[in-house]
Amino acid sequence: MDVLWWWVERAVRAVSDVGDSGNGMTWVAIACLAATALLYVVLAALLGNIADGSSDDNKRRQRHPHGRGGGVLQSTSFKLVPVHPSYPAPRGQLVPQCQCFLTDNYFIDKLGGREVRQHVSYNGDDEAFCKKNARLLRSWTADELNEALAILRDERARREHAAERSKERRERIKAEYTFITRCKELQLHHLRPEIRSLMTAIEETWTMDGRLPPTTNAQALVGTARLLELSPGIYAVPMFTAKYCAELEKELSNFRHVASKDLKQSINSMNKHGVSLHELGFTPTFSNVIMASIANPLVEALYGAEFATLDHHKCFTVEYGEKADTDLSLHYDHSLITFNICITSLFEGGDLQFFGDSRAAPRDTPVTWRHRCGWAVIHRGRGWHRALPVRYGHRTNIIMWLRSRRHSREVGCDMCGKPVVSK
Ligand SMILES: [Zn+2]
Repeated sequence: MDVLWWWVERAVRAVSDVGDSGNGMTWVAIACLAATALLYVVLAALLGNIADGSSDDNKRRQRHPHGRGGGVLQSTSFKLVPVHPSYPAPRGQLVPQCQCFLTDNYFIDKLGGREVRQHVSYNGDDEAFCKKNARLLRSWTADELNEALAILRDERARREHAAERSKERRERIKAEYTFITRCKELQLHHLRPEIRSLMTAIEETWTMDGRLPPTTNAQALVGTARLLELSPGIYAVPMFTAKYCAELEKELSNFRHVASKDLKQSINSMNKHGVSLHELGFTPTFSNVIMASIANPLVEALYGAEFATLDHHKCFTVEYGEKADTDLSLHYDHSLITFNICITSLFEGGDLQFFGDSRAAPRDTPVTWRHRCGWAVIHRGRGWHRALPVRYGHRTNIIMWLRSRRHSREVGCDMCGKPVVSK
C-alpha cells in the first residue's frame, strides 16, 4: 500500500508541476498516472482474492462443486469439524446392541491370587455355566469357583446397568469436578503437523462425488506424513503434540487424585484402571470430532468405504505401571476400528503386540509396536492383541473403540460376528 501512495503522490505532483514547467512535463505526468492506475488494478485484484478466499480453495470448490463437505473441508488446510456432512452424524457413546454384550467375553484375571486369565461366556445361570465349563472347572477349587461366579455376577450386573450408571457418573462429574485445563476441547494446534498433512493429502484426492478414488488406498498413503504400516491393516501415525499429551495427562492425573472412588469405575472387564472420557465430558468436543474429522476419512482411505460409517464410540484411558494395571492379556476389542494413542513418555516396556485376526487362532509370531508419545496405532478391533508389562514408569493411552451401527447391521457384530438388529 505504501508503494501505491508513493505513486499517487508522484503523479499528483507531476500534474501540478505541468502548469509551472510547461508542456515538456505533460508526458511525465501522463506516464505516472497510467502506472498508478495499472498498479491499482493489480493490487485490487490481489486484495480481492484474499478477501473472498478465491485462491486455490475456491478453484478446487469450482472443480468439485458437489464435493465432500460443501466446501467446509475442501480447503488444502485441514480443519476439525464436529459433524462431517458426508459421513454418519456422530452419536456419541451408545450401549452395544448385540445380545453378546450381556453374555460373552467375560474375563477372569485371578482366582485366590492365582493368575487364571480366562475368557468365558456367562448368561446369568450359574448351573448352566458350570455344566458348560466342566473341563475348565476341574482345575479350580470350590473356593475359586465361588469367587469366579461372584466376579461373573458382578460383571453381568455392571453390563446390565452400564448405560444408566454411566449417565449418573457423567452428571455427577459435570457438577462436582473442576477442570484445570481445556484439554477436552480438541483444537487444530493439538494435532501434529504429520496427521494434518496426511488428512490434507486425503482431502486432495476426493473426487466429484465426494468419495475417495479406489486408487487412494493404504499403499498409496503409506510413507505420507510418516504413516507407517506395521503389518497389513495395522498402522501408526504421529497424532497429538507433546504439549497436548502433557495437558491431557495433567488433567487425567488431577482427576485421579481429586475424584471420589465411585466416579472412577473400571471401564471394562480387563482394565481396572483408567477413566471413561465420555463420563469426563469429552464426547462432543473431542471423541466425536476425531471420529468425524479424522477417523472416518482416514479409515475410508486405509480400509475402504465400507468401514467409513463410524457413528458411535467408547473412549477411555488405560493406565499401566505401579498402582495401575501392569499388562493386558491377549484379547480383541469391542470395536470395528480402534485408535490407541499413547500420551506419556516416561515408561519402559508395555509394547503392543498383534497376533492376527481373532476369527483364527493367534499367530505364533507377533507384530510388536513400541509406543511413542503422541502416536496413534490404528487397527481392526477384531485383531488379537495384548500389552506387555510396563517395567518402569507410568503409561497412559487413550483408547477409542470406534463402532458403526450400519456395519454391525449389514456385516455383523464386532464381537460375535452375528448380524445385529438395530433398535
Ligand atoms: Zn455380538
